[in-house]
Amino acid sequence: MPINPDFQKKRKRVGKEEGVAVWGPVDPPEKLGIRGTNVAVDWDICKGCGVCLDVCPMHVYGWKGTSGHPTSDRKPSPIGESECACCYDCEAQCPVQAIRVVFGPPKAFIAAVPLMFAQIIVSVIYGIVYGPYLGLSIPFYVGWIILVVGLPFFLSPSLYFPKAQEGKSVMDTRAIVDSGTYGIVRHPQVLGCILLICGSIVISQHWLSAIVAAPIFVLFYRYVLKEEKSLIVKFGNDYKCYMQRVPSMNFIVGIIRLKFRKHE
Ligand code: SF4
Ligand code: SF4
Repeated sequence: MPINPDFQKKRKRVGKEEGVAVWGPVDPPEKLGIRGTNVAVDWDICKGCGVCLDVCPMHVYGWKGTSGHPTSDRKPSPIGESECACCYDCEAQCPVQAIRVVFGPPKAFIAAVPLMFAQIIVSVIYGIVYGPYLGLSIPFYVGWIILVVGLPFFLSPSLYFPKAQEGKSVMDTRAIVDSGTYGIVRHPQVLGCILLICGSIVISQHWLSAIVAAPIFVLFYRYVLKEEKSLIVKFGNDYKCYMQRVPSMNFIVGIIRLKFRKHE
């Protein structure tokens, strides 16, 4: 029987081992549960063949001794799951379907998003209620235009990624998505976040709004660098070709290139 795709809902998280989540029930040595969250291995199904360690390009797994367990006396622990490039090779090649991989946004993205929403909401409300801090009315309206332009970029994954499979995120794609906004820039969602933040700064025209935005930009920059590395590992030369065709976030260059491609 394969790993339960809904284990995060159906099983209880009972602890952590070396930073890796443990999902019960656990009753060693016979019952060991599931290790990991975004890269999860059901140790009660795993037979310790080592294929996942061999195929993983990011060296996510490390062996752990499990003597006395009925299926094998060693199991792979996803100790480096935050480095997973979501290539799904381990999941596809595990002979007993003991592995489940789901997309997990890097820590930089998780940290940036709540801060971003707070910055945008507070800035926009400030601009509406008190008016722009510097009193400049044209930039105030330009800010609203930037917000409107940024929104479709921000919503890109839900607009252009294929429908999510059961228990998976919409980001768990196995093919390069280069349609819609992904044909203009490679990171439309991050570009959308940046446009929304810039729009809200221009609406409020408050120095505090710009100061709060600075670390968010740094976190997004770090996210994009990490994401690019993972996508090169995941898609190889296809992604390198996509990088040559489509700019990272410069949407003006992206639109010009798209127009030329359409006329080729
Ligand atoms: S999905 Fe790819 S990168 Fe992630 S753990 Fe499996 S083999 Fe490694
Ligand atoms: S490929 Fe599957 S069975 Fe083999 S060690 Fe990895 S999880 Fe266990």
